[in-house]
Amino acid sequence: MSETEPLVQRPSILMVDDREENLLALTAILEPLGYRLVSVTSGTDALKELLLGDFACILLDVQMPELDGFELASLIKQRKRSEHIPIIFVTALSKEDRHVYRGYSAGAVDYIFKPIDPGILRSKVSVFVELWAKNRQLQQQADLLHEQQLAELERASTVRYRQLADAMPQIVWTSGVDGGATYFNRRWFEYTGMRADEAGPHSWHLVVHPDDLPVAVARREQTLESGEPYEVEYRFRAADGTYRWHLGRAVPMRDAAGRIEFWIGTATDIHDRKIIEDQRTFIVAAGDVLARSLDYRETLTQVAVLAVGDVADWCAVHVVETDGSISEVAVAHRDPARLTFTRELQERYPPSPDQPAGAAAVIRTGKAELVSVITGEMLESAAVDELHLDLLRQLDLRSYMCVPLLSRDRVLGAITLISSESGRRYDREDLLLAEELARRATMAIENARLFRQAEDRAQAARVLATIGDGVFLLDRNGRIRLWNAAAERITGMVEADLLGRAAAAAIPGWESLESRIPVAREGEPARPESVPLEVPGGELWISVSAVGYEEGTVYAFRDLTEETALESMRQDLVATVSHELRTPLAAIYGAALTLRREDVELESGLRNKLLEVVAEEASRLSEIVNDLLLASQLDSGKLRINIEQCDPLEIAQLEVETARVHAPGGVELVLKSPQSLPAVAADAGQLRQVISNLIDNAIKYSPDGGKVLVALEERDHHVRFAISDSGLGIPAPEQRRIFEKFYRLDPDMTRGIGGTGLGLYICRELVRRVNGRIWVESERGAGSTFFVEVPQEQATPSGTAGEGTGRRRAAAPA
Ligand code: ADP
Repeated sequence: MSETEPLVQRPSILMVDDREENLLALTAILEPLGYRLVSVTSGTDALKELLLGDFACILLDVQMPELDGFELASLIKQRKRSEHIPIIFVTALSKEDRHVYRGYSAGAVDYIFKPIDPGILRSKVSVFVELWAKNRQLQQQADLLHEQQLAELERASTVRYRQLADAMPQIVWTSGVDGGATYFNRRWFEYTGMRADEAGPHSWHLVVHPDDLPVAVARREQTLESGEPYEVEYRFRAADGTYRWHLGRAVPMRDAAGRIEFWIGTATDIHDRKIIEDQRTFIVAAGDVLARSLDYRETLTQVAVLAVGDVADWCAVHVVETDGSISEVAVAHRDPARLTFTRELQERYPPSPDQPAGAAAVIRTGKAELVSVITGEMLESAAVDELHLDLLRQLDLRSYMCVPLLSRDRVLGAITLISSESGRRYDREDLLLAEELARRATMAIENARLFRQAEDRAQAARVLATIGDGVFLLDRNGRIRLWNAAAERITGMVEADLLGRAAAAAIPGWESLESRIPVAREGEPARPESVPLEVPGGELWISVSAVGYEEGTVYAFRDLTEETALESMRQDLVATVSHELRTPLAAIYGAALTLRREDVELESGLRNKLLEVVAEEASRLSEIVNDLLLASQLDSGKLRINIEQCDPLEIAQLEVETARVHAPGGVELVLKSPQSLPAVAADAGQLRQVISNLIDNAIKYSPDGGKVLVALEERDHHVRFAISDSGLGIPAPEQRRIFEKFYRLDPDMTRGIGGTGLGLYICRELVRRVNGRIWVESERGAGSTFFVEVPQEQATPSGTAGEGTGRRRAAAPA
């Protein structure tokens, strides 16, 4: 049975016997020696024990079932671990040489024969134990020697490694498992400026930039726990106080069992790469911001904020306003408190636009400025007074650059970047970055401007398309560049036919019109001018105003034709009607006054004449009023019309008779008609008025008298009346217009012939209403002939046609 107590360095004796009592006997004998005694009852158990422990000697029973002592001994000898353990056979067998020989050849070193002599057994076992102890001692001495040699080797290699580490351009250190530094290489001391006696286990905390420290420490703690390699980017303070970006790395060194023994760390200067990377990121981010918004002022503010921290401690953006003044559209600082301070400083000492350096100068010259190191002298020369200098000093300005926002043809503004507490010094590379930023900002500003212009134009185009005023644009060469929808509608001339053509060729009479239209300069109020414009449908009156601008002239116009017509109609009405009313009124008034006079006795002849005047003039007044009423009824469509079967000849005869009564002496009235004429479909009363008007006019406009002929004839489906005189005649251009309301050829009555200008208008309207036609043929000074055609009454039996108004009547002699 094996003991379960842990193995100790006490010499151990393995006792193997299949019989417990033998084992007990052996134990009893050997116990006093104080060795560790391990008893097992089979060969298999013995082999197991030998695997577990180191034995000084084995006592082996020769005769055992299954695996006997000889077989077990040879197995023990075959095993590397147990081959040197001395075996003492315990046997009751004969002392025959054969057995002894077999025992030795199986690896026995000695024999003990039963019955056992305790003294002999103890002394034999003691000898082997002593031998074992000696061997062990020798082994320990050899191990110690080996360790010492190793330590020496290690020291030598550490020195070599340190020499190597010192020679490296990187910072190298080692740290224990707790992270505390145990070694720093030479570069560390050179870079940080620390002395060897100052460098402690956590010195790196002192040189890492305060902003980067929390992350670096947290990450280090994490890797110390997990044993993963450590990697972090941080800024390391150099001996001169500036910071440079480093890549810090640490990897664990492990022993054969995989336990971390210590860490090797390095810090590699990645400042330049990092700056380029940061710059690239910054430029990309700035580009993004700039491209996102079209409000460039807001965008520039965002860029300034972005620049602060990435490339500067301060950033200001100035732009040139449309009036040429410079305004600061964005300013940002790492520390908002400082911002207030600078604002106050600027208010107290506003930068002068003609200062020799700064944003204004950069805008003026279009040239970038770079001051790597701002010196005290520079501040002194820039300061206006002591207080100013003091304030400037407080700003802690270290380095400065200012780049223009250069568009194709002008300077749009400038971006100023200043480094202060970060201690950063700008160099040529940084200037390139700033210029790149400026390029992108310029693009953004231009895009925003272009967009706004396009918007404005689109807006203007929409307005132009929808406004009621006609608008057209001529370029500096007088070519039509725009002709809006209203212009098309008013004039009837379409843009497609006009664009690109010279106005002089495309617009009839343009040359004389152009000289009449005053052209205001941009910004000045335009003065409209009313001019006639010849268009395909006739003549228009338009009110035009014009404004000149860089690329030509814009004309805006309104159609005044209707307004002009109304206005002139109103004037005509007032002029003619008031005159026409005043004349009979004056006559009536005069006659009435005379009749009323009590001082003069009027003879009855004169009295009757005066009363006649009153009656005649009153009837003339009523005629005028009737005409006005009739015209107004025609206008409003309220005139009632009663179309019936009328006898044209009867009407003509009646009117000629009536006219004859009043006609002046020099006028001869003649009626000419065929024997019979078909009846016409008209309103008899209205037709009479038409014929009466025409006969009256013929007489009126023949001041020198002459023949007035009223001729009737049958025309296909019509009856035509022709009233001709040999009077004043009407010039061709006026012949159409005399049928207009209030239109008179001689409104000033130079020939002394009065009238309201309503007669022919009424005639035209009445004739139109019976589907007839009225027109004139005339020549100035050679008399006129007015024609009226009225449709014949259809050959349908009509109850309304009386006896006396038969379809055909004989013409009465004139
Ligand atoms: P009024 O005679 O009251 O002026 P009308 O409408 O009858 O108005 O005629 C319009 C104008 O036409 C006249 O003012 C006159 O100038 C011209 N006119 C009309 N009839 C004749 C005519 N027979 N001969 C010459 N001119 C005429």
